[in-house]
Amino acid sequence: MQNWLNVSDFHDFSIHNLPYGVFKRDGKPTPCVAIGDWMIDLRKSSELGLFNGLSIDASVFNATTLNDFIATGKASWSALRQYLQTALSDSNSDLHKHRDTILVDRLNATMVLPIHIGDYTDFYSSIEHATNVGKMFRDPANALLPNWRHIPVGYHGRASSIVVSGTDIKRPNGQTIPPDATQPVFGPSKRVDFELEMAFIVGRQTELGSAIPVSQAEDHIFGMTVFNDWSARDIQKWEYVPLGPFLAKNFASTMAPWIVTMEALEPFRCASVKQEPAVLPYLQYEGDKNFDISLEVDLIPEGSGPTTISKSNFKYIYWNMAQQLAHHTVNGCNVNVGDVMASGTISGKDENSYGSMLELSWGGKKDIPLQNGDTRKFILDGDTITMRAFCQDETRRVGFGESVGKIVG
Ligand code: CA
Repeated sequence: MQNWLNVSDFHDFSIHNLPYGVFKRDGKPTPCVAIGDWMIDLRKSSELGLFNGLSIDASVFNATTLNDFIATGKASWSALRQYLQTALSDSNSDLHKHRDTILVDRLNATMVLPIHIGDYTDFYSSIEHATNVGKMFRDPANALLPNWRHIPVGYHGRASSIVVSGTDIKRPNGQTIPPDATQPVFGPSKRVDFELEMAFIVGRQTELGSAIPVSQAEDHIFGMTVFNDWSARDIQKWEYVPLGPFLAKNFASTMAPWIVTMEALEPFRCASVKQEPAVLPYLQYEGDKNFDISLEVDLIPEGSGPTTISKSNFKYIYWNMAQQLAHHTVNGCNVNVGDVMASGTISGKDENSYGSMLELSWGGKKDIPLQNGDTRKFILDGDTITMRAFCQDETRRVGFGESVGKIVG
């Protein structure tokens, strides 16, 4: 699509995308939209009156997170997107006239967490991942538990330790049980891992006691981000029975700074994995509810180049986002704007599409080769994990940017 910044249709942040983020301008977190290697400062744009025709309360762009803007609702998200696409295509627009004030160099910007996250839920929606973990942690013959094909299994995570891309992650300490030992020991985790996930951001508040029907669930989603749910496998193995993950997961999760809206993802809609046996009526849906999003993970040792160790796709997930949100609220649990709901590790069928080192190294039994000649089973201090996500067809690309994090001792 023609635009006066000459940003390619195949840039991650093409005019078809326009993802939202928050960057620091003069020390103050400031809402923005990415376009190519630039960002549009939404606060300055609003102060200049550029959005006067949109009936969006200007105060939302003076906030330090996107929550207030998100709460204005789907019609506002759509109106602002439409305005920006039109203004970026028209060299006589007010946006063009004020470009020196409102455009900021994205490549040198400091991004911050774009939303205030009240609650974080993590699902477990990849059948390949759940099967692989079941084989390794429990019983190879009965890897999937009996509930798995009936319930979008999930747990409540910890919002306080979600950080923005680029934040170093300290190797967690905890209790583990060495092989053949009967008593646990305390110390740094020896099996720090990533989990390749996508997360969606809740866009609409609900009341306690009300449920979101699966048919309306997508209207409650603002957008998506690429998400690394760091995990400590040795801590997890010892602590997870009977209530599930706790300290093995809550030391950190890293989200990319950009939230891609559902409207931008619309051209990349695709069918979900066939569900058998049939799910209960409140989880049944019509139409295509999944999205074709390519996912990649690089491991970068300190002072060395990257090796792409996994290539997966969001379309592999068994339970789609509409089902996840319908299930989450079916008991009357209320959700809030800015809540983060992650997919769970997204693995495909092929070994190179596994979304964690636990699976890539098959429980630490296999070496994962790196470009520099080294190998890994789990993450070492100084290693950086970079996750990328993008959608692309013959006419356009819509990218999520990167979730980057380095494990430090
Ligand atoms: Ca997870």
